[in-house]
Amino acid sequence: MVSLADLPLRDDLRGLVPYGAPQEPVRVPLNVNENSHPIPEGVAYDIVTSLAGAVLAANRYPDREFTELREGLAAYLGDGLNREQLWAANGSNEVLQQLLLAFGGPDRAALGFEPTYSMYPILARGTGTAWIPGTRDDAFQLTARTAVRQVREHAPDLVFLCSPNNPTGTPLALETIREVYDAAPGIVVVDEAYFEFAPPGTPSAVTLLPGRERLVVSRSMSKAFAFAGARLGYLAADPAVIDALRLVRLPYHLSAFTQAAASAALRHSGELLAVVGDITQQRDRILAELPSLGFSPVPSAANFVLFGDVADPRALFAALLDRGILIRDVGIPFHLRVTAGTHEETSEFLAAMTEISRR
Ligand SMILES: *Cc1c(COP(=O)(O)O)cnc(C)c1O
Repeated sequence: MVSLADLPLRDDLRGLVPYGAPQEPVRVPLNVNENSHPIPEGVAYDIVTSLAGAVLAANRYPDREFTELREGLAAYLGDGLNREQLWAANGSNEVLQQLLLAFGGPDRAALGFEPTYSMYPILARGTGTAWIPGTRDDAFQLTARTAVRQVREHAPDLVFLCSPNNPTGTPLALETIREVYDAAPGIVVVDEAYFEFAPPGTPSAVTLLPGRERLVVSRSMSKAFAFAGARLGYLAADPAVIDALRLVRLPYHLSAFTQAAASAALRHSGELLAVVGDITQQRDRILAELPSLGFSPVPSAANFVLFGDVADPRALFAALLDRGILIRDVGIPFHLRVTAGTHEETSEFLAAMTEISRR
């Protein structure tokens, strides 16, 4: 047994730490923004039927262009998109990695506005891309002015805009995206992993795609679709962007099983997304109830809530874990983040918070 330091590791990976949200078995897991609602049994059986067909044909490589899945994704997004504008991979993390492989790399840089999704710097460094930790305005907002100033200063090859932003839940105005696009020399990625939880009527950055060939909108089936275990992320962009991704993807990167399962799930998008309203209600309960316990929740358009005024985040995290409730310490001083789970899970979380804060 040797240690990592004994291996001929790339110099730029030395001293880095891998992504590592705890995966302990707990009664109430509210730490990685999953959808707490299982797949409805009827939908599961239809997915299994599709999978059976894929198993019978598994002697052949899968459709490298996952045509049927891209058609399903285009139909789901609507807005006049066609399959040539859609791409998918094993989770949107892989989609983002492919973007960095194609448009980042050595001597190139990516900018994000922290605190933001913790995987952006990890994916950037893994692809040899420099990470520029940009900043936000007060209360984790990101105005066009603040974002554009940093884009002009750094002229990055890629800009990551997370909308709504993880870990803060903060929505992002389309105006900021438009102005960042106009100021940026390179690719602008809008990560809409939590889009389905935004208030009904919120416009997607997908509406900005016409005429903007450097704009990319990424989505995920891991959150609202309750499909985190299946690993399916996707993006919409100009077909030329997708041609660039074909240069870096592994051949047949989406297995026949992934394609079959995701296409079947998309056919049931109505049933799968039926729980979104309940989840946003639980989020709103958390937002409404935490202030009376002395905490300051950050307004959220996602399926989680970041809350501040936590005197001792480690102690509160541990006290909740003692009660079987796992939330997330995202490293922001005096803050913790909790996922909106089922009604029961949310009630347990709020009851535990009440009990702990009265001690
Ligand atoms: C959860 C999350 C994703 C989704 O990742 P997958 O690889 O699709 O599971 C992407 N971006 C952000 C900001 C997320 O929080």
